[in-house]
Amino acid sequence: TEYKASSERYNIMKYNRSGKSGLLLPAISLGLWHNFGEVDNMLNARYILRTAFDLGITHFDLANNYGPPFGSAEETFGLIFKKDFKQYRDELIISTKAGYDMWPGPYGNLGSRKYLIASIDQSLKRMGLDYVDIFYHHRPDPDTPLEETMIALSDIVRQGKALYVGISNYQAKETAEASKLLKELKVPFVIHQARYSLFDRWVEKSLLNTLDNNGLGCIAFSPLAQGMLTDKYLNGIPKDSRAFKNFTYLDTAQVENNLNKIQELNKVAKNRNQKLSQMAISWLLAQKNITSVLVGASSPNQLKENVKSLDNLKFSKEELNIIDDILNF
Ligand code: NDP
Repeated sequence: TEYKASSERYNIMKYNRSGKSGLLLPAISLGLWHNFGEVDNMLNARYILRTAFDLGITHFDLANNYGPPFGSAEETFGLIFKKDFKQYRDELIISTKAGYDMWPGPYGNLGSRKYLIASIDQSLKRMGLDYVDIFYHHRPDPDTPLEETMIALSDIVRQGKALYVGISNYQAKETAEASKLLKELKVPFVIHQARYSLFDRWVEKSLLNTLDNNGLGCIAFSPLAQGMLTDKYLNGIPKDSRAFKNFTYLDTAQVENNLNKIQELNKVAKNRNQKLSQMAISWLLAQKNITSVLVGASSPNQLKENVKSLDNLKFSKEELNIIDDILNF
């Protein structure tokens, strides 16, 4: 059936500026790492995307190798985009990345100019797009000169294939170096995509300060620790969960090791009249300099639930202390 976006879509979401740039991102963005591959249900994927946009989620995040198999999330997105979202192209921020293993041989991985330029062309073809809004280098490459990688990003922008660039999984020091190079090249470098959740707070050491000092935004990935920071695993490992599936990066041992903390955090969430998933997202949005929280979802309902996080973004000092205690932070 034909899709017409909800006329309410801009009354629900908050939009935050990415660092000191002109780019506004929704406080909650949707990632297509899982649930959009060839192994997944296309109709469910389509309804997740429609639900997202109806909730004011204007940002969809992809990468060359999302699937499985590699490339299939971009293909799924391309098919759905053509049917449902073409008319809304100028209301959307679509990102993709290159940096991890993508195709065989020495040119399908890491950070060479050869890899990045070939990969963006492949991604645009799979998605049926003329350009992406943000193109990321997905992870640092210790063996390629940073300057080569950054010049490749710059040329991709100059060629009109991306409007903005970002980096992901870079440490603070490398981020400052990248920022310096991209400033010299006059490239609109606007964002760092980093793993950040109640369970993984490495960015608080120095990355967030570095981003602030360089006028860059931060988009937090795996904010729910891949689903552990929800009520999903409170009573065991359901069959329809990421931890149960065997092509994912979450296993039952990780869930079991964290179960005590999950239960304790769930109590704090209850006292705030939130679901644990909602508290985990609100907590991130309450940190300074977080532009967007990049969630994944295996159903439209999860997204609806997650967007309700915006109704309760304030934490008392006491709540924050209890949370830090539970996490031994
Ligand atoms: P999350 O931590 O948000 O985990 C999402 C998963 O949690 C869902 O797929 C679902 O899993 C479960 N979930 C979500 N909402 C609920 C809810 N309300 N109740 C119960 N369970 C829920 O994020 P992801 O790990 O999926 O990462 C998000 C995005 O971040 C990715 O899609 C990708 O775009 C990006 N990313 C980037 C990386 C990088 O290196 N730059 C690395 C990893 C991710 P289930 O299937 O069990 O229902």
